[in-house]
Amino acid sequence: MTFTNRTALVTGAGRGIGKAIAETLAAKGVTVICVSKSASSCGAVADAIVAAGGKAKALAVDVADGAAVTAASEALLKEFGKIDILVNNAGITRDGLLARMSDADWNDVIQTNLTSCFHWTKAIGWPMCRARFGRIVNISSVTGIMGNAGQANYAAAKAGMIGFTKATAKEFAKRGVTVNVVAPGFIKTDMTAELSEEVQKGATALIPMQRFGEAAEIAHAVAFLCSDEASYVTGQVFAVDGGMAM
Ligand code: NAP
Repeated sequence: MTFTNRTALVTGAGRGIGKAIAETLAAKGVTVICVSKSASSCGAVADAIVAAGGKAKALAVDVADGAAVTAASEALLKEFGKIDILVNNAGITRDGLLARMSDADWNDVIQTNLTSCFHWTKAIGWPMCRARFGRIVNISSVTGIMGNAGQANYAAAKAGMIGFTKATAKEFAKRGVTVNVVAPGFIKTDMTAELSEEVQKGATALIPMQRFGEAAEIAHAVAFLCSDEASYVTGQVFAVDGGMAM
């Protein structure tokens, strides 16, 4: 995989899948802007990348705050001159059956998981179009493809990311900017550590490979889609899920 003098912005880079994506891109020579909600988590990841000889900057931004995302994007574009790669990975769950789902649980998940993609892509995607190069990867979920009881908010946000990806892929295609989805299955992170043992066992039974994935297994797929070589891949949904959604 080739990365020619690239700068990437990865949201949710403080832990889990986003951290693995940031580390994987940095190991390939990419300068990585690590965004998370708390300064401590993205700071620790950026420090570790720099300590390992890579290039990174940490930035605490609440991705659910559209004005903050727009202001951060403008400042970063001034500081770095360009952002070539955008990975919209930050996400939350607020699970519950629909009958008991509050408006706040619905709105928080839509705002953090889906509306954030709109704000980052609007702010960073157009400069990519002007530069005639860009790679955008949106981290959705098998839940956005298959649905899941107790996750109406999350499934709606993750399915929305897929529609958003295909629409923006069509808008940006002529300008050398690709937009793709990676749809993870169950991956070992803090998010799935919250699930009860019974739920984890039930989920494993649905996975043909009979195991949860590692964050690094998602990061490798994302890295390919961000590389120079992935120049003819756009608008695609790449499931990395041990065969779960097939
Ligand atoms: P995680 O371990 O819970 O980490 C989430 C990351 O997102 C953290 O760095 C967190 O920041 C950041 N974040 C959350 N809300 C934010 C906000 N409002 N503003 C800025 N950053 C915010 O999650 P994960 O399991 O790695 O999941 C990453 C992505 O993959 C999510 O979009 C998730 O839906 C998706 N996914 C995960 C799985 C899975 O099995 N784990 C499966 C399918 C899809 P802090 O570090 O500051 O808290």
